[in-house]
Amino acid sequence: MSTPLLKVENLTKHFPLSAGILNKNVPVVRAVEDVSFSVSAGETLCIVGESGCGKSTVARLLMRLAEPTSGRVLIDGTDIAGLKKNALRAWRRRMQMVFQDPYSSLNPRLTAEKIITEPVENFERLSRKQRTALAAELLRKVGMSPQMMDRLPSELSGGQRQRLGIARALALQPSLIIADEAVSALDVSVQAQILNLLLDLQQQMGIAFVFISHDLGVVEHIGHRVAVMYLGRIVELARCESLFAKPVHPYTEALIAAAPVPDPTRVRLDAPVEGEVPSPINPPKGCAFHPRCPLAVERCRIEVPPLVPMSDGRVVACHVRAPATDLPTQWATVSAVRL
Ligand code: SF4
Repeated sequence: MSTPLLKVENLTKHFPLSAGILNKNVPVVRAVEDVSFSVSAGETLCIVGESGCGKSTVARLLMRLAEPTSGRVLIDGTDIAGLKKNALRAWRRRMQMVFQDPYSSLNPRLTAEKIITEPVENFERLSRKQRTALAAELLRKVGMSPQMMDRLPSELSGGQRQRLGIARALALQPSLIIADEAVSALDVSVQAQILNLLLDLQQQMGIAFVFISHDLGVVEHIGHRVAVMYLGRIVELARCESLFAKPVHPYTEALIAAAPVPDPTRVRLDAPVEGEVPSPINPPKGCAFHPRCPLAVERCRIEVPPLVPMSDGRVVACHVRAPATDLPTQWATVSAVRL
């Protein structure tokens, strides 16, 4: 099997609630726990879950905007934690990020041309002519007129600002784009345009995406595979069509049942699942979903369920729906499938 473009192994991130390096009893926010997945060239892996499930922390760890407590992030087989300054700069060219709020992620004092060309000029000098040509090409690529290159972000609509953010991300010809709630601040019609733009760019340029969203409709439209996170852990990872056709984990099932659907004859639940997401400072023992799960049994209160491969290639962490009684360890089981 070829090396995946991105491989995440057992990624964990705890945030101590107070300084106190010597005090081992400082409470921690367990934002991400033992998360593993991979992304191939040209693939879109979506990460979904309720607010606070750890998906945006995963994005920050991938971009090395935060250091993991443990675990590894590998690009083409190289662990980015070990990269020195120059190698890290080169690696950063390959991974770019598109943010939720295009307005606050764009410098309000720079023109569209400057915003697009600035990342390239961090690596190489461009002549005036080269700058203009690059900005015009990328504006065209994201469906904007090159005549807009003199505009400031405040002179653009929300959709145009997000297109500009995408043009900036494309300037360094990345292999992978991390999109964190990249369309959730936009109107529905503009969302569809931006999603179609991302799909077109993926087809043209073979870019891989890690697409983080709380919106299952968006995920179903754009994803190849989906990882569902709950309280810092992946509870189900599957191909998009399998997950939406037949969710296995009770939490995935509840999320899909509660998602808005365009069919008026289908009833939508108001709340994704009963109850609140527990605190990541003091998560429930065993399966963290057990206080909200209608299928919970005694074992769920004691043991964390391992991710277990199913016959269709998905992995699921649930004692009831994917029992692992015959399987010795998590890695012995999961290593048989592609995360
Ligand atoms: Fe529910 Fe138990 Fe499965 Fe957790 S392990 S999702 S509590 S049935």
